[in-house]
Amino acid sequence: MSNKVHLGHTARKRFGQNFLTDENVINRIVGAIAPDNDHVMVEIGPGLAALTEPVASGIDKLTVVELDKDLVERLQTHPILKDKLEIHQGDALNFDFKQLVREDMQMKVFGNLPYNISTPLMFHLFEFAQYIENMHFMLQKEVVLRLSATPGTKAYGRLTVMAQYHCQVMPVLEVPPGCFTPAPKVDSAVVRLVPFKTKPYPCKDVDMLRHLTTTAFNMRRKTLRNNLKHMLSDDDFAALNIDSTLRPEQITVEQYVAMTNFFIDKQA
Ligand code: SAM
Repeated sequence: MSNKVHLGHTARKRFGQNFLTDENVINRIVGAIAPDNDHVMVEIGPGLAALTEPVASGIDKLTVVELDKDLVERLQTHPILKDKLEIHQGDALNFDFKQLVREDMQMKVFGNLPYNISTPLMFHLFEFAQYIENMHFMLQKEVVLRLSATPGTKAYGRLTVMAQYHCQVMPVLEVPPGCFTPAPKVDSAVVRLVPFKTKPYPCKDVDMLRHLTTTAFNMRRKTLRNNLKHMLSDDDFAALNIDSTLRPEQITVEQYVAMTNFFIDKQA
């Protein structure tokens, strides 16, 4: 079993604390992030500063959001980092990332995320997509597979549709459990998400897209027709030229947007 104490801190399971310790992986992630002073650099969950230190070393200022008060205290007194960091103690899930945008500078957001909150955190971050240049996250490998999935596969779901509606998704590298202390029980992977400046399939109401997608995937084994019967009729599907006998995972992002826009127009 791996050591739970790292750099004098006992890892807290409830905060999803698995600290990165592999120098090679750290260097590759920092290389992918490409820190610069032309963007507002934002780290979620800096922890014991495995990524924070090398990222901050090349730039003037780094903003971090960390929930664990003990770790915040360490960062506030860190001899090298304390003058460069803007520290927000709190929950990234409720954090208003828009407040960090300065002048017309876009954000680059990154982090080795707590796996227990990664899906809701992704949904939260998509709300700020227009202010973000790119994001690099360490996630459970299974979540990276879901983010980058193609229609017709088991991994394709509502997270895929919403991620690919907002962003170009690129898996960067796979990371085995031994690269962390303590070692997580699952494989990990780094993903790069680049929000579209111009959406390939613009939706009239993103909240409605999210609602329709959630409803469609509510029962994966049922047909689209069955899951969406209170929103779209057989005639609507015919007008959309979408086969309503298909399962939700067989429908493309473009088709989810088309169904949502059709539904909105119908309500108007
Ligand atoms: N970045 C460090 C590293 O790579 O070694 C730590 C990564 S650890 C997987 C996740 C970090 O996120 C921890 O520092 C944890 O305290 C912090 N964290 C957990 N839940 C959080 C939340 N809701 N908001 C902000 N930070 C959170």
